[in-house]
Amino acid sequence: MTAKGMDILPLHKWLPAKQLPLVISGPCSAESREQVLATARQLAMIPQVKVFRAGIWKPRTRPSKFEGVGNEGLKWLQDVKAETGLLTTVEVAKPEHIEAALHAGIDILWIGARTVVNPFSVQELAEVLKGIDIPVMVKNPLNPDVKLWLGALERLNASGITRLVAIHRGFYYYKHSIYRNQPMWEIPIEMQWQYPQLPIICDPSHISGRRDLLQGISQKALDLGMAGLMIESHIQPEEALTDADQQITPSVLAEMLKNLHVRQFSGNKEFQTKLEHLRHEIDKMDAELIDILAKRMNIVEEIGQYKKDNNITVLQIRRWSEIIYDRLNLGEKAGLQKDFLLRMLQLVHKESIRRQENIMGQTDDEENS
Ligand code: PEP
Ligand code: MN
Repeated sequence: MTAKGMDILPLHKWLPAKQLPLVISGPCSAESREQVLATARQLAMIPQVKVFRAGIWKPRTRPSKFEGVGNEGLKWLQDVKAETGLLTTVEVAKPEHIEAALHAGIDILWIGARTVVNPFSVQELAEVLKGIDIPVMVKNPLNPDVKLWLGALERLNASGITRLVAIHRGFYYYKHSIYRNQPMWEIPIEMQWQYPQLPIICDPSHISGRRDLLQGISQKALDLGMAGLMIESHIQPEEALTDADQQITPSVLAEMLKNLHVRQFSGNKEFQTKLEHLRHEIDKMDAELIDILAKRMNIVEEIGQYKKDNNITVLQIRRWSEIIYDRLNLGEKAGLQKDFLLRMLQLVHKESIRRQENIMGQTDDEENS
């Protein structure tokens, strides 16, 4: 099945959120009944928050760390729902997690970034979900791979899950950056561009890894027309057993949401997605143009060295006239304006001459140094 053929229900058809963005919040991990309920009570007073999240089974990088409270936490989530009316969601990574979550009446499941990287795991979860009518949110895999992300959604959809949401939580990137996970906005934009019916929400907490970047990332997500935000919150963020640096208190969340500017996308979202997609294409092409220019200059220098070794002048008028004639011809066929192309070629030529003259001017000592 192709994703274009995916049968996906729009968010507003199954969520109580009348107006977007949908906000999902709650602690990275459920730690105690008190922590879970105290956080949920405060979140329930924020009108935008409709869903309460908490990790019960935590995927940890190192084995000695807190791995979640397990099944016991499901009871606390039941209490949250009964007391506040918030919908509940947990991360599931194994078939037994799904069974326990369904048994506890959890409203929405989500599959984490570490699970989505593995098609075997996703398939196993999809099979358990066959014939079960529950919404599932799918985080992007750790690595920036649109097909892998989409593949997970397709597997679930093939099992009959139609209430699907993609969660953009950023991507592992080997280079150091201010983000814990690189947002690489072009990836969710590409998803949205290909599959406009797929709801995508953003998880600024795992993108940023720190509190001070949450607002900016959330705003950017809304500006791109994303349907909601999943933001981690904790009554005492500094004391959190997991992801302490990125969690905020419910009151900070309320303030942040107040300051977000929500644009109306009625009928306009497609325009925005297309615009972002096209801009990204331009960015890629500019990078290619720069790369090609740099490669051209390298060859120009190689020729300069060759001319020097063979005692030939830098400027050879005949070659230059041939270039102009040939390139203007090519340009005309490609629909480029003659005057524009001529000016561009002259600029490139001037820089090429400068580089070759530099080489000519170098003494042998300089060259060998
Ligand atoms: C989480 O939401 O707490 C979590 C573990 O997220 P991710 O799968 O995006 O790392
Ligand atoms: Mn977390």
